[in-house]
Amino acid sequence: MALSFYNTLARKQQEFVPIEQGKVGLYTCGPTVYNYAHIGNFRAYIFEDLLRRTLEFLSFDVNHIMNITDVDDKTIRDSRAAGLSLRAFTQKYQDAFFEDIDTLRIRRADAYPAATEHVNEMIELIRKLFDAGVAYQAEDGSVYFSIANYDRYGQLVRIDRDQLRPGNRVKHDEYAKESVADFALWKAYDQDDGDVAWNSPWGKGRPGWHIECSAMSMKYLGPHFDIHCGGVDNMFPHHEDEIAQSEAANGCKFVNYWLHCAHLVVDGEKMSKSLGNFHTLRDILEKGFSGREIRWVLLGTHYRQPLNFSFRALEDARASLQRLDAFQQRLDEAETMPDAGAGNAAAHAEETALAFRNALEDDLNVSAALAALFDLVRDMNRLLDQNAVAGKGVRPIRKTLDHIDSVLAVLTPDESENVPTDVQTMAEERQVARKNRDFARADALRDQLAEQGWIVEDTPNGPRVKRK
Ligand SMILES: [Zn+2]
Repeated sequence: MALSFYNTLARKQQEFVPIEQGKVGLYTCGPTVYNYAHIGNFRAYIFEDLLRRTLEFLSFDVNHIMNITDVDDKTIRDSRAAGLSLRAFTQKYQDAFFEDIDTLRIRRADAYPAATEHVNEMIELIRKLFDAGVAYQAEDGSVYFSIANYDRYGQLVRIDRDQLRPGNRVKHDEYAKESVADFALWKAYDQDDGDVAWNSPWGKGRPGWHIECSAMSMKYLGPHFDIHCGGVDNMFPHHEDEIAQSEAANGCKFVNYWLHCAHLVVDGEKMSKSLGNFHTLRDILEKGFSGREIRWVLLGTHYRQPLNFSFRALEDARASLQRLDAFQQRLDEAETMPDAGAGNAAAHAEETALAFRNALEDDLNVSAALAALFDLVRDMNRLLDQNAVAGKGVRPIRKTLDHIDSVLAVLTPDESENVPTDVQTMAEERQVARKNRDFARADALRDQLAEQGWIVEDTPNGPRVKRK
């Protein structure tokens, strides 16, 4: 099967053909660092991580760029409210962002250009847009993109050009599709900007949000590159405006494949502070869930389907991951036994690897990919029950699991999920008590473990401790 993605620009699934063989230029819109990122944001970053890891799994050399928006309407508004300089304010959330993506095992991009460090590139780009006849300075001193002078405007979200009312302007970074209008490239300074301003040929001011991504993607990936991603809420106006700016300035196609991930809802409702269902990653970690469990939930729904987040789903994630951990422990144990069943296990492993790859090549079909993994677990558990796979026979299964985990990154528990030493000691003491037929002592230890949130399972290979 050939690798294919649903391309928003084409409105259909298309085979992926890179511009340069074996290489992929990938740009993903990064965080606006004015607050802790919430799980809706991380849903998009996890989808992008799955994409990136899948491309690398398929042996592509990926150059992944993610910007940091550290100047825009929101960062200026909230830094002033906090009484901090823009830099001091955004630094805190930028640091938190990197901590969070590490917690979620998101592979780091090759570069994270910050908007404030690329204002010169933005000014250069705006100059090009003047040369191309699509930029103008309005009476308010700000510079706008003229959508009337650019006849390809609206190609991503299919705007009906007959409905356009030329000359309307919008200065805010975010606006609805109904208010499509000339948008700001350079915003003339006003008092609400405090001390945030740069000099430009059009006077003191600051860049608009959309020009940031055009300037930075161009600098790091060139005028024409392979894949651009974001959440569906980025499609308009942000991505539409990026296309207009980049294509008008460079006179060539901007991006070949646009991939967008659907929304995240919480218990079936839109996440909002007023409904009390707004969660940052930190909120959920504080409730005792691990980064791996959260990653599992955010990863498990196909990226173009809305993801329904719930604490029930996190509980289910815990159970699924425990099943995978237990399976790996069984493999560890089987590996110490005399060789058996190498041929059978190898055939299963190969079949799984192929099914996993085929699933991901089909527009990142993660459900089918996970099904392939769980089929392997079920079939191998059956063979392990019969002692029909052991010793060196385990190796091909391990190899396939490692291969799969280079994409999923869920098979190693977090530090916080490991069984603490004192808990392990109690479980061993209980085992000794049982051997000595001191059942009162064994039961007391079991209850004590349960109080601390641990259960002991007695298996043919001895007791196994797991989280309740
Ligand atoms: Zn962007």
